[in-house]
Amino acid sequence: MRQLVLNIAPEVAELLGSEDAILAAFDAAELGFVCTACGQPGTLTATDRASVVAYLPDHGRGAPVVRYAHEHCQASELLTVDTPVGDDPGSVWPAQAWLRPDDDDPAAVVLIGPRLAALRVTDGGETIDRITAGLLGVGFELLDGLDGPMPNVEGLAVRLGLGDRVSVVDGDDCPLWDGPLVLPPGWTEAATTTGRVGVVVASGLNLLDVERDHLADLHDATGRGAAVAATAQLLTDD
Ligand SMILES: [Zn+2]
Repeated sequence: MRQLVLNIAPEVAELLGSEDAILAAFDAAELGFVCTACGQPGTLTATDRASVVAYLPDHGRGAPVVRYAHEHCQASELLTVDTPVGDDPGSVWPAQAWLRPDDDDPAAVVLIGPRLAALRVTDGGETIDRITAGLLGVGFELLDGLDGPMPNVEGLAVRLGLGDRVSVVDGDDCPLWDGPLVLPPGWTEAATTTGRVGVVVASGLNLLDVERDHLADLHDATGRGAAVAATAQLLTDD
């Protein structure tokens, strides 16, 4: 009898499809894996539990990919992702520029929606999101609504580059997010006039799904404490 705990969500079990495939998943996890959430190696043993995380790449058109996570890093889940699954599916963090009304400060905001919620369960049994928890630890605060305040975080900066490239960096100039964004009219002016850009990281968004109302999703995220925000200083290269 196996004394191993490998979490398999019902929809993941359905994807695996047979008892043999599930036993093969145990075997694979016992051989060792790179955790989908923290990137560190793991092994399913009598004392180390794991979760099966299944991905449906390329909006569900690609062949399913089965990976593993430490139990304390990520729950078993089936995730549809927009890209082919590479070595580090957790690095997929789509973002968009968001312009709030003039009287909200800051008005120019970078909204980042990590595709993978790296969940862990605290000793008290609540589930917390490792990404937002990490940001709270460096000075971000929970965003309490779409017009909510965003505290200044020392060293947090946003740099605008050529081709509407936007980089969000921390105090050590380490990139939190970097890439081209479609900037709505007035966004750059709001950022340059005030020198302030909001940075919001929220879980549970799907920014690449154009049919979704992202601000409605963000509003829901603020309601369940899943959105954190801070204000960055704008840096310009010229
Ligand atoms: Zn892990």
